[in-house]
Amino acid sequence: MKTIIPKKPLYLGGAYVEASSYKELRSPHTGEVIAEIAEGTREHMQQAIAYASEAEKVMAALPAHKRANILQTVSRLLQEKREEAARILTLEAAKPITVARGEIARTIETYQFAADEARRLHGETIPMDASAMGENRIAYTVRKPVGIVGAITPFNFPFNLVAHKLGPAIAAGNPVILKPAEQTPLSAFFIADLFAQAGLPAGALQVITGNGSEVGDELVRDDRVKLITFTGSPEVGKLIRRNAGLKRVTLELGSNSALIVDEGVEIERIIKRTVTGAFTFMGQVCISLQRIFVHRSLYTDFVDRFVAETELLRVGDPADETTDIAALITLGDVKRIGEWIEEAKREGARVLTGGIEGRIVKPTVIVDAAPHTRVCCQETFAPVVVITPFDTFDEAINEVNNSRYGLQAGVYTNKMEHAFEAADRLEVGGVMINDFPTFRVDHMPYGGLKESGVGREGVKYATEEMTELKLVCFNRNR
Ligand code: NAD
Repeated sequence: MKTIIPKKPLYLGGAYVEASSYKELRSPHTGEVIAEIAEGTREHMQQAIAYASEAEKVMAALPAHKRANILQTVSRLLQEKREEAARILTLEAAKPITVARGEIARTIETYQFAADEARRLHGETIPMDASAMGENRIAYTVRKPVGIVGAITPFNFPFNLVAHKLGPAIAAGNPVILKPAEQTPLSAFFIADLFAQAGLPAGALQVITGNGSEVGDELVRDDRVKLITFTGSPEVGKLIRRNAGLKRVTLELGSNSALIVDEGVEIERIIKRTVTGAFTFMGQVCISLQRIFVHRSLYTDFVDRFVAETELLRVGDPADETTDIAALITLGDVKRIGEWIEEAKREGARVLTGGIEGRIVKPTVIVDAAPHTRVCCQETFAPVVVITPFDTFDEAINEVNNSRYGLQAGVYTNKMEHAFEAADRLEVGGVMINDFPTFRVDHMPYGGLKESGVGREGVKYATEEMTELKLVCFNRNR
């Protein structure tokens, strides 16, 4: 029997529109073709922006309770189709099925949070008489939709990170154009269908697939688009910032997140969690645990237990219920990380467990790595972790801060003073005390310093960012 390969046109102006060329989408796990995806062009993006301009007025006129209802319905529909959605993640991203189900559960919640924000988006009254010049005036602020939102997303959380952009954009009353990552378009079309079923006006959400440097770039440069919300690599983030003109830009970028394990910590209680932080979805998580600094008194014991726990992880087919580790997203990434590991070895590092087999990089634990080698100072975005001993807490904090990135950091400590010191001194957007840096729930503010980004996500924060604050002032001095 011949397998039918699904063909996905562009989702433009509320309808599926054929493109003149299609690109094969291949499974990262098997390399087989799983779909044919429309190659959008700059002209398609121009059409999408024109449709979005029309939808802008419709969305701005949609009352809060209707926007909330649409978002709530999407959340409910996704709940009903959660297994189908999880299987898409497993197919297009090689996300192990149990991890994929976790992402869908979070996405359901993210859309619920967005529905809540649609209902409570509000301004405030301003005490004008705090200034003598403001006497007898009454003023308040309202939050108006910012306008067309351009959402550009990465491959690693194709449902939940897309929800962090579509949810707030719609909660705030904006039309949104989504340019999903080349490797993960199927999830984008799936969610667009749910929004259509939920009654979102035509043109308020469009999905334009294709090359980032073409359709993504067109979206970034057009002055009718008022805000770009981007999640992806620092390299592309910097390019977007340069090309975006005066529009608002939110950038959620990479990191080489670190954890400090302080003197006196009970190691057996944290080993499982730290292994999870390092290797979930093969380390392709922006807050994946990449660098672990362990107090010298615990170092040998920690390393031994960490390696033993790592070796329990099961490598296999991402659709298999027992699989922890499957293929990396591309063969190019397998090659890249192989070179980085070799570089670290040449500079004196030892690989205690790991190895590469075809498309799979086995969970790799490295010690004695020189800080300037790429496994330490760049974002590996692969199942590779580096463990290093430290002598003083001050030294550990400096090591964590010695990074071009600053997304999140974790500290396990029994000492209150050290917890406060870490909270104060770590140069990151989020400090997790007695947890790994990989912790995130979807309503907390989330984002980075340095090359980890600009601005914050977390549904409330992103929704506010997608509004214009408008002041209304009544003069009663007549
Ligand atoms: P990427 O930067 O390669 O691609 C992201 C998106 O940008 C894709 O949709 C791509 O098509 C598009 N793009 C590429 N060139 C463009 C251009 N010139 N103009 C406009 N758009 C363009 O990232 P990726 O490999 O898909 O994802 C991995 C990266 O994302 C990692 O660095 C990871 O840390 C980061 N990430 C960050 C967060 C966060 O919240 N901070 C979350 C997840 C992933």
